[in-house]
Amino acid sequence: EFKSAPRPEVGKMLPLVKNVIAVSSGKGGVGKSTVSANLAIALAKLGYKVGLLDTDIFGPSMPKMFGVEEERPYSVHKDGRDLIEPVEKYGVKLLSIGFFVSPTTATLWRGGMACSALKQLIADADWGELDYFILDTPPGTSDIHLTLLQTLAITGAVIVSTPQQVALADARKGIDMYQNDKVNVPILGLIENMAYFTPAELPENKYYIFGKEGCKNLAKEMNVPLLAQIPIVQSICEGGDDGAPAATKVDSITGQAFLSLAQSIV
Ligand code: ADP
Repeated sequence: EFKSAPRPEVGKMLPLVKNVIAVSSGKGGVGKSTVSANLAIALAKLGYKVGLLDTDIFGPSMPKMFGVEEERPYSVHKDGRDLIEPVEKYGVKLLSIGFFVSPTTATLWRGGMACSALKQLIADADWGELDYFILDTPPGTSDIHLTLLQTLAITGAVIVSTPQQVALADARKGIDMYQNDKVNVPILGLIENMAYFTPAELPENKYYIFGKEGCKNLAKEMNVPLLAQIPIVQSICEGGDDGAPAATKVDSITGQAFLSLAQSIV
């Protein structure tokens, strides 16, 4: 399928968007959405114009992470077209299929339907001028990824993994998908999430629950940068559930960590 559909020209779709960054993982549950949300917020804190598209059609988590589950994007009439207006929170323009489907029912769509819904969220939305358009992609290498690669000129991809072997094996496939000859999307780097755990009462101790330096080794092997090693921190988990991700608190250690992660990709 890659052969029949070359990469889109830069600037053809969304000409006012400067950089399109895909956040991927091979495996689910490694913190890809958490990283996407915090990265988007941190980029906005740095003063950039940021959009975030939750492309996980079957398990959208961004509305909850941003605390905007009750909001519904409205329609605006611009340049003779009706466009979907993204929801804005923490300086980030956000769209997710989660705004349009019931949060408690399964979305039983075939791949084709999911892909056309996704295309609408890209092409028929009022994204306007953006410095960074972050795509939170579903786990794996799916129809959704193909649609994204064929619709948008992705500037670079960030791969999230834990240091655990099963996650690394899938991360390797994620990297391979972007490095495929027909796709050729630069890998901006690997992010090791859940790198270690430090209990509050023993701040000097680091427990490498999922293994040590797995991502460092994979980064070396695949010749890509290791952008960050994010520990398991309760506030990161709680921030996501409370609709106020850690990056909103710039004075906290985790807020600072996400700011430096954002700085590493600009
Ligand atoms: P994915 O998008 O890869 O499926 P999520 O971002 O939804 O993963 O994260 C999975 C779970 O782990 C969520 O409950 C999230 O709050 C939690 N989590 C992610 N990263 C961290 C971290 N560094 N510290 C603590 N909890 C985390």
